[in-house]
Parts: sequence; C-alpha cells; structure tokens
Amino acid sequence: GPAPDTGADPAWVREVDRAHLWHPYSSIGSGPAPGVVRGAAGTRIRLTGEDGVEREVVDGMSSWWSMIHGYAHPALDAAVRAQLDRFGHVMFGGLTHEPAARLAAALVDITPAPLRHVFLADSGSVSVEVAVKMCLQYWRSQGRPAKQRLLTWRGGYHGDTFQAMSVCDPEGGMHALWGDVLPRQVFADAPPAGYDAAPDPAYIGHLDALVAEHADELAAVIVEPVVQGAGGMRFHSPAYLRALREITERHGVLLVFDEIATGFGRTGEMFAAEHAGVAPDVMCVGKALTGGYMTLAAALCTAEVAQGIAEGEVPVLAHGPTFMGNPLACAVAVASIDLLRSGDWRGDVARVASGLRAGLAPARDLPGVRDVRVLGAIGVIQLDRPVDMGAATEAALNAGAWLRPFRDMIYAMPPYICDDADIERITGGMLAAARASVGVR
Ligand code: PLP
Repeated sequence: GPAPDTGADPAWVREVDRAHLWHPYSSIGSGPAPGVVRGAAGTRIRLTGEDGVEREVVDGMSSWWSMIHGYAHPALDAAVRAQLDRFGHVMFGGLTHEPAARLAAALVDITPAPLRHVFLADSGSVSVEVAVKMCLQYWRSQGRPAKQRLLTWRGGYHGDTFQAMSVCDPEGGMHALWGDVLPRQVFADAPPAGYDAAPDPAYIGHLDALVAEHADELAAVIVEPVVQGAGGMRFHSPAYLRALREITERHGVLLVFDEIATGFGRTGEMFAAEHAGVAPDVMCVGKALTGGYMTLAAALCTAEVAQGIAEGEVPVLAHGPTFMGNPLACAVAVASIDLLRSGDWRGDVARVASGLRAGLAPARDLPGVRDVRVLGAIGVIQLDRPVDMGAATEAALNAGAWLRPFRDMIYAMPPYICDDADIERITGGMLAAARASVGVR
C-alpha cells in the first residue's frame, strides 16, 4: 500500500516552497507549481497538485534514474535503519567503517576488473570533479604537466559543477551560458546514432585524428558509454568505446567512463562498458548506486592511476568532502547492490524494455514524432519540436504517470520492479504527453 502521509497541509508546503525554495533548473517565483509529494511506495508516488487534487502516479523517472528497486523497499529501509542504530555518520579522514569497506569490496567486484580503488563522493557531479582531478594529477605526477585538458563528445552531460560543465554539450546543452569562463576542452562530434548501427570508420578516424592532434595536452577522454543521457538521450554503438580504448592507449591518454546514468543495469548490462567489453582507467558511478535512497557517488580508478598519483611530488589527492563515505549511504548502497546480485535484474530490465517497445510503438505514427527508441529500461519519444512542458506533464499525470520531459524529448527510465500494468501507464503517459505537445488528441 501507499506510504503514510507526511501530515502537513499541501497548500502550506507549496506556499513556503514558492517563497523560499530553489528547484533544479529554475528561477525563483516562476514556472508551474511543483506537485507536493505525500508519500511514495513501490513504483508509485502520491502527490497533490495545485488544484488540490490528490493523485497516485507511476514514477516513469525512477526519481531521476536512481530509484531502481522502487520506493520504501523493505530491504533498503532495513539497511538504513540498521545502520542508524549503530551510527549515522562519522568523518572519513583517518577513520573507516564496515559499510564503506563492504561497499568498496562490492564495487570492485562488480565493475570492470582493472578498477581497484574507490573514491567516495556525495554526488555525480562531484565524482566527475574527482575523476578529472585524478587524471590531471596523474599526468602532473608523471612529469607531464601540459596534459591538463579533456576531450569529450558533443551532446554529452556530466553534471553542474565547473569541470563537469566544461565537458557538457557546448552548444545545445544546459551550460552554454558559461562558455567564456569554463576550462577550454576539446570536442569531438557525437557518435553516430543507433546502438545497432554499423560503426562508421570515418567517425573513428575523426576521433583518432583529434586525439592525436591534442595528445600532448590531453589528460583524458571522458564520455558517457552507450547512452548520452541528459544531453539528448542518444544511443550509440559500443564499437566506438572499443575504438576509444584503443586510440587513448595508443596516444597515451587516460579514458574515463561516466556511468552515473548507465550504471547498475539500466542499459541491460551491469555497466555500459560491458557492451563493449572494455575497461576505462577511471569510472564514475552515482544515481542508482544507493537504489536512489541517499546522495552518494564514486570515482573508481585503476592501480596504475592511483600509483601514478602516489609517485608525484604532491602524492595526495587533495579532495575530502565532509560527508565522504557517509555510513547510511554506504549501507543502503551495499543493500541495493545485494538486491541486484540476488535478484533477476537482467530479466526485469528485459521485461521493462519489451514493455516499453510494445507500448511506444504507436508513437511512430503520431504527427510531430521524429524518433522512438528503446535500449534496456530506457524509452524515448523524440519530437520534431520542443516539448510543451506544462501540457505534456499534465497529460502524463492525467494518464497516471509522472514524467519529466526535456527539450524535444519525452522519455522514461522506469524502476526495474515495474510490472506490465505500470509500464502500460508509463507508455500511455508518454503517448499522451506527445499528443499534448503537438496538439493532437
Ligand atoms: N553524469 C551523468 C551521465 C549524469 O546523467 C548526471 C546526472 O544527471 C551527472 C553526471 C551528475 O550527477 P548529479 O546530478 O548526481 O550531480
């Protein structure tokens, strides 16, 4: 059943929110009023709209791609409670604890083999900062201080902090405003679209030439493997990851995979790198790491990167967030990974994928739809125009689904526990949102 009500009057919550709270990608005092969440359990969120109407909707977003096992999961709730009975937090400088050790062991176990060392961070963006710092410092330590730039694909998204913003899509992306003050990185074209598309040798040549041209100043290539998420929900062939691995090795450049969105099964493999059978030198994880329960991310690196830094004139990585290794977050991350390892996530993701494929098929015949694509538990309807956010969100809610479209994209990344009826609600909501956006009934 639904989680117990929070008790507070939703009108009061909305009023205080309106007066004082800043929301993601918003300005104060503008935009549609947010729904007030009253409870969440399983695949459902219960919320009260501005009209005072209470709805229970299926979460097609997994709370920004993180809540893979659903809300109020008994095993995850129990993991937080059990740790809370021991201690809620302790500093990580000079101290360690079982939840962090168990998490490190689990992460090293399930990520590609060469990744051995785990730096815990509080958010995906910060794990990207740490990954970049590792790469830049590695080359400084190796007596190559000129290698301080990054190469990335256009159309990417890596977060909202300054190094992370510098490798986001430079034109259409969310951070174009900052172009003049961001570190100047090297941009390759985005990979040709299509997971199943035959790899384009000319494109691989483009990557090779660009890395070769800038090899003396490149610390690393950083990309989102297989799926470029918030930059445009684009899928590409794993062949380009194999090509990048070979190219970076040949030119002496590190390779970073940002698996913050793709990690923990979302694309149908535990990590997207596995589609290509290659391992990066540094890998970022976040989002679904804790099953969406708490804010936690990590940058993992190889022994070579860690040793290389340790050999430097300044041998320490100067990074240490106050809440590094938060025991509650580590404990729930361990429990979430245990759920993946003991359950049939592969079967669940495949079931969600086929539900999305079937449910979204009719979208191909809608006017104004440019593309419909599904990979793993990711479904996308791409329009030929910007989504009408207000109309689309409202239409989806009325169809019983919570969606958060962006730009020209109506997409879903459902919890893996969705049953067929949940997926039908989500795809129904996506179709309704598409119709509302292009003005057809
Ligand atoms: N990298 C990727 C690929 C992401 O999708 C995101 C978030 O959407 C981030 C980094 C940033 O993570 P966070 O929002 O936890 O800072």
